[in-house]
Amino acid sequence: MSETWNKRTKAVHGGTARSGWGEVSEAIFLTQGFVYDSAEAAEARFIEAGPDEFIYARYGNPTVAMFERRLAMLEGAEDGFATASGMAAVSGALTSMLRAGDHVVAAKALFGSCLYVLEEILTRFGVDVTFVDGTDLDAWCRAIRPGTKCVFFETIANPTLEVVDIPAVAALAHAVGALVVIDNVFATPVYSRALEQGADVVVYSATKHIDGQGRTLGGIILGSTEFIRKTVEPYMKHTGGSMSPFTAWVMLKGLETMELRVRAQTASALALTEALQGHAKLGRVAYPGHPSHPQYAQAQRLMGAGGTVIALDLGGQAEAFRFLNALQIVLISNNLGDAKSIITHPATTTHQRLSAEQREALGIGQGLVRFSVGIEDTSDLIADVMQALEAV
Ligand SMILES: *Cc1c(COP(=O)(O)O)cnc(C)c1O
Repeated sequence: MSETWNKRTKAVHGGTARSGWGEVSEAIFLTQGFVYDSAEAAEARFIEAGPDEFIYARYGNPTVAMFERRLAMLEGAEDGFATASGMAAVSGALTSMLRAGDHVVAAKALFGSCLYVLEEILTRFGVDVTFVDGTDLDAWCRAIRPGTKCVFFETIANPTLEVVDIPAVAALAHAVGALVVIDNVFATPVYSRALEQGADVVVYSATKHIDGQGRTLGGIILGSTEFIRKTVEPYMKHTGGSMSPFTAWVMLKGLETMELRVRAQTASALALTEALQGHAKLGRVAYPGHPSHPQYAQAQRLMGAGGTVIALDLGGQAEAFRFLNALQIVLISNNLGDAKSIITHPATTTHQRLSAEQREALGIGQGLVRFSVGIEDTSDLIADVMQALEAV
């Protein structure tokens, strides 16, 4: 029955496991451990724990399991493992499956910490990483080789908003037996159909649209039961990046309203993009949900929408800073997917670590700002942006 529900219903009811009290709101089982009826029962559970049998919260917890099941249902995945942050999910998905000598191909336009994991950490353990322009299929084709273990990319890259062709890259990867691991934050679970389009593993930072209200850090790794239970779980439960039950409860509450928030944010992002077309103070206005975006058709085909983030080019850093400082509703911060509109200057914050040449190669200019559109009234947001552009 629940498998045929639409996403909005799954996001409200999926995976709910009520205690004997019959509570309406999901219970927080704020417990590290679990009591066994006997020494024999403890022994049996350590030999093999059933899906609703718990041992220790680093391994699993009833509230965390509700979150994992709800998100697995939403994504159409067999299983999921919840993590302490989005980066615990990205690093856990990759590190749990890779070993020295393995080869990985990744898109070079990535969230700063993802780039650090691939470039600085995995390579330290003898993993060979090749970076490609994610939008260039020939580059993927040249880089993927027999023996490539996995490919990794963000469906919509942060902060440049390029869209990667999931089915085409997956076909190249699968031809050599490589797994397709996708960081799907910008696509959101609302619009994602990544697994049916060829992904093997989908990773989310739940910090973003899933919480959506700026409270907690979290993440999840979604995939086949085989991959989650045989590869991810042993790695995560022994290295310690598991999600806390309190966080899982906050995320479950966030999931109830996620679709309403994300659709409202997406509608405002499109309205803002339209209002800003041809504005004298702006260079490019990039939004994958607008026909002016080079991968608009692909974004429609993959997700049917452009997501909640737009990118604006104000020319230089001075102009960008003047714009940020003049905004009255939109907050200067570095989260995204939040109910509150948030603006970021990547070159001096999230992507500061990169050299000027690296930023140039990724299209992160000094004038680029990333705008995560919130759920405020659309006309108030447009008015705020317009008055701040006057100040530039
Ligand atoms: C935020 C983000 C992450 C990291 O998530 P945290 O919850 O902050 O650890 C990874 N990838 C992308 C694309 C992100 O936007």
